[in-house]
Amino acid sequence: MEKRITGHTRLYALIGSPVGHSGSPAMYNYSFQKLGIDAAYLAFDVPLEKTEDAVRAFRTLHVGGFNVTMPNKTAVAQLADRLSPAAEMVGACNTVVVEEDGTLTGHITDGTGFIRNLKEHGIEVAGQKIVLIGTGGAATAIAVQAALDGVKEIAIFNRKDEFYANGEKTVDKIKKAVSDIENVYIADLDDREELGTAIARSNILINGTRAGMSPLEDILPIPAEFLHKDLAVADVVYNPKETLLLKKAKEAGCRAAVGGMGMLLWQGAAAFELFTGQEMPAQEVMEKFFK
Ligand code: NAD
Repeated sequence: MEKRITGHTRLYALIGSPVGHSGSPAMYNYSFQKLGIDAAYLAFDVPLEKTEDAVRAFRTLHVGGFNVTMPNKTAVAQLADRLSPAAEMVGACNTVVVEEDGTLTGHITDGTGFIRNLKEHGIEVAGQKIVLIGTGGAATAIAVQAALDGVKEIAIFNRKDEFYANGEKTVDKIKKAVSDIENVYIADLDDREELGTAIARSNILINGTRAGMSPLEDILPIPAEFLHKDLAVADVVYNPKETLLLKKAKEAGCRAAVGGMGMLLWQGAAAFELFTGQEMPAQEVMEKFFK
């Protein structure tokens, strides 16, 4: 590793708190080395109140770019000079590119990563009817990207908790920004009649909540009896790799059951491409770090 660090080596970074568990340094450094890119990637633990300091330091040092994880995604979006259309709509970014002139462009690749992962499993979103459970960070990025990518209908469901109002805002933003979407609405996840009707007329069901993630691994976001054969079921949760929802989807004979690990890979691959203009060796990275 030291051998390839020179006076020209460009720094890329991850900020957030905590970051010690992150697989990003391994994934990016492997890819830089593999492609012969003179760059290195480090993770920095930056608490929310230090976000501005960290961003100022990155400007001064003219790093190549940086990724952002919780809890700094919203704060960084407010500090960037420009935002991609998706990052603007979501109000958060996970990737910032430092342009040649030093300006910072914020992107969000969670949504593109999720949809790329669906594509890798043979599932297209354009023209489809989607039920999305969740209105937190991951779900919002997916709703926005799915709308930008031409879905016909998005029915969003969430519990009436502190995240519900965020879902109402997302619906408004999509309606304003994406004129050709036929229908987008939000309803209460506890309204089983409405939920059952929406899932029956949809062909993609996405869990964008923490339900199913350890220690909530025994929680199903929807009743299993709503699953049907025409549904492709996808989960954002990657711990465990196969969630209870995916198990039930397989038992019900759903046309696909896609886990969250691929979303993690492809959101990183999208950021890598924004940073370097080159494709990450995604299959190798998947084999090495995600299996
Ligand atoms: P968040 O805190 O922003 O949102 C949490 C969401 O979960 C809200 O909609 C909330 O209402 C819902 N929720 C919480 N407990 C619930 C329960 N018991 N039943 C039903 N709904 C419940 O979280 P986030 O950052 O959006 O993360 C959500 C999940 O997505 C996490 O499991 C996270 O690990 C995963 N995630 C995966 C990727 C990936 O690349 N695969 C990326 C980001 C997040």
